[in-house]
Amino acid sequence: MVGRVTSPRPERIVIEGCAVATVDGAGREYERGHLVVEGGRIVAVGPGPAAEPDEAVSVRRVDGAGCLATPGLVNTHHHLYQWVTRGLAQQADLFGWLTELYPVWARIGEEDVSAAVGAGLGWLALSGCTTTTDHHYVFPAGAGDLFAAEVAEAGRVGLRFHPVRGSMDLGSSAGGLPPDHLVEDTDAALAATADAIDRFSDPAPDAMVRVAVGPCSPFSASERLMRDAAALARDRGVRLHTHLAETVDEEEYCRATHGCAPAEYAERLGWLGDDVWLAHGVHLDADAIGRIAATGTSLAHCPSSNARLGAGIAPVRDLLDAGASVGLGVDGAASQEAGQMVAEVRQALLLARLRGGPTALTAREALTLATRGGARCLGRSDEIGSLEVGKCADVALWRIDGLGHADIADPVAALVLGAPPPVELLLVGGRPVVEGGRLTTVDEQDLLLRARRAAGRLRAATP
Ligand SMILES: [Zn+2]
Repeated sequence: MVGRVTSPRPERIVIEGCAVATVDGAGREYERGHLVVEGGRIVAVGPGPAAEPDEAVSVRRVDGAGCLATPGLVNTHHHLYQWVTRGLAQQADLFGWLTELYPVWARIGEEDVSAAVGAGLGWLALSGCTTTTDHHYVFPAGAGDLFAAEVAEAGRVGLRFHPVRGSMDLGSSAGGLPPDHLVEDTDAALAATADAIDRFSDPAPDAMVRVAVGPCSPFSASERLMRDAAALARDRGVRLHTHLAETVDEEEYCRATHGCAPAEYAERLGWLGDDVWLAHGVHLDADAIGRIAATGTSLAHCPSSNARLGAGIAPVRDLLDAGASVGLGVDGAASQEAGQMVAEVRQALLLARLRGGPTALTAREALTLATRGGARCLGRSDEIGSLEVGKCADVALWRIDGLGHADIADPVAALVLGAPPPVELLLVGGRPVVEGGRLTTVDEQDLLLRARRAAGRLRAATP
């Protein structure tokens, strides 16, 4: 088992004097409240100052004046390797964008993946994210142990990590979109997925690394890979993740190839269920929304990526009204170069309102998507996603007393409607990963240089 954070932390951290949005089931908020963290867990949260500890333990006191405490944000969809292939195919739709980028991605190696994962995760931490997924589905022959490289890098940065062992086995000669040289043999992909679970997935309640299973999409994974991957995931008790209903092109592909819309295709293959979270769900009719909700399937909504690729606006309000759980994702950095988790909260609100008017999504609902909604996507509602006693101490403390935010009437509105505020303190399992807007676990300059080198190398090597 690797990836577990073992670095020392103070016995107790007491944060006081801040506004608190717990995002718990009752929506409790405190204008001036406290939060106490001990042993990686939240041991107290409430209004006013914290109670004095009975005995002398090692206590770190944090003055939260001018700040808002929220649960750490949960990113439910990403492709971190894309960090080093940003800024390409700027005007393309999804299929055009993929077709332009596949040859670049075919050249990635362990060093590129490590550099991209470090930079992408560091950047996520600086935007308030404490738990993230990474759907990695590009495994060029001879590229090394890319999955191990990303898990190791995530351990260095210190975020709670849900890497998805992705896969593609449907090359262009078999009717798929990716070139043949970029897809894996079906059995080899399944074996590597089983191996990734065995090596890295930790079922423990406070796990820092938990692996999921993720054939890439209906147009890059065969029916057999989809079915067998689902069976593997259920046999091992891990979760399932894939892309679904992202574009009109995908829907047309599904109708032409499988005779039905993507959601029906997914259901036929065993890919709807309460252990499944799907990325996108932009093009869903009322029937598909009903089936997603009825089966307990979760959706990873990626508003900036959908906008950047001109894919459409997901029916988030309809999904929520139907009872489906919805989380937020930044998606791969090559389809939305910003890659900031807190910015997606605002973007989700704006897109929902462009689709459904000014009452379609409130600031608090948007924040809930990025916290409790994300926890549900990852099957970790009991552990993360809200500030409640007994939950993991995954906390974002936002500085909202600067020029951009100080006079916004409501602290939650300052966070969601205002510009992305600096993160004063980010705790993951009680361990500080960001302090005063700077990463504490890794060197930001080192991340930058490694990512720039990898991006330059990949661009230079691409014909
Ligand atoms: Zn994606």
